[in-house]
Amino acid sequence: SSRSSANAYLEKERTLAIVKPDGVSGNYTSSIRKIILESGFSIQREFTVHLDEDGVRRFYAEHSTKSFFPSLTKYMTSGPVLIMILQKVNAVADWRALIGPTDARKAKMTHPNSIRAMCGEDLERNCVHGSDSVESAAREISFFFKEAFPEGTTLEHDEL
Ligand code: GDP
Ligand code: MG
Repeated sequence: SSRSSANAYLEKERTLAIVKPDGVSGNYTSSIRKIILESGFSIQREFTVHLDEDGVRRFYAEHSTKSFFPSLTKYMTSGPVLIMILQKVNAVADWRALIGPTDARKAKMTHPNSIRAMCGEDLERNCVHGSDSVESAAREISFFFKEAFPEGTTLEHDEL
């Protein structure tokens, strides 16, 4: 019915954000958190973890055969990362828009107000991650939060 599609349109969406090792070690976490909250997201859950090579391979499975993968693994295991579930209407696309293009060098020219322009360096060291689709978000959230949010969990309000 038109009523249920109107409800679906207003339904909150979740996405996975990561402050990568360069973002954490560069002390950008509090600025990034401020941007997140001022942009209307709620941060449902967050924790810090130091990924190992196996964790990176499983998280970035789609990139595991690419030539840059060894370098990406070295980068992503170089220090702790901050994992966050962000929630708002249109969270996936809005977070991707906020972080800007993958190449932080390009971001500084074309998207100077983006997070990657603020704290990233180049095509690899781009300081933050964002899920690229609703499907990726579901997979990535369950990768990091399976125990906290089992399948079917509906979050009505901020957990923190
Ligand atoms: P994202 O979705 O914008 O993060 O970009 P991708 O999913 O394409 O790539 C995942 C991550 O791998 C990026 O955020 C970068 O850290 C890194 N990366 C992507 N492409 C390259 C590349 O061509 N070379 C290198 N060294 N790293 C890359
Ligand atoms: Mg991606």
